[in-house]
Amino acid sequence: MGWCMPNRRLSKFSDVTCAMLAEDGVRALVLDIDNTLEPYENPDPTEATLAWFRELGDAGIRFAFVSNNGRARVERFNRALGFPYFYKAKKPFAKNVRRAMQAMGVRPEETALMGDQIFTDVLAAHAAGIRAYLVPPIKDKTDVFTRCKRLLERPILRRYDRRQKKEETQ
Ligand SMILES: [Mg+2]
Repeated sequence: MGWCMPNRRLSKFSDVTCAMLAEDGVRALVLDIDNTLEPYENPDPTEATLAWFRELGDAGIRFAFVSNNGRARVERFNRALGFPYFYKAKKPFAKNVRRAMQAMGVRPEETALMGDQIFTDVLAAHAAGIRAYLVPPIKDKTDVFTRCKRLLERPILRRYDRRQKKEETQ
């Protein structure tokens, strides 16, 4: 179960602040795109998303995209940003997460991956030996496969929440 457990559960990507990253000792973020930063139908980052990148980037945070989506989606999204990017990344496999760290010139202990899916993003993060930040999907698909996935995520999220509560009361 530990492999599925996020290190942080956030309500949206922009909850990640410089202060939070400093607390975790993180100076690089490996980012999922779809449903983490923007819904599937947004081809470009919104102004608010760009502002978030600017703020963290100005503080020295590095970024890379690791997406299971195709080349066109990832290149278009990254056009105005120009970060290292890896498409058809086959998360939960760690290979492209490791390549992303290499491209950013950072070590696992100073890197976190942020994504919206436990069985791709969180697993890929831990497989690469880095922290996992989990956000809820911005706008989930409603097909059977996605619904099953979310159903399977539920007990893990409940367990995470219980653990948090216990920590808070200690
Ligand atoms: Mg996603």
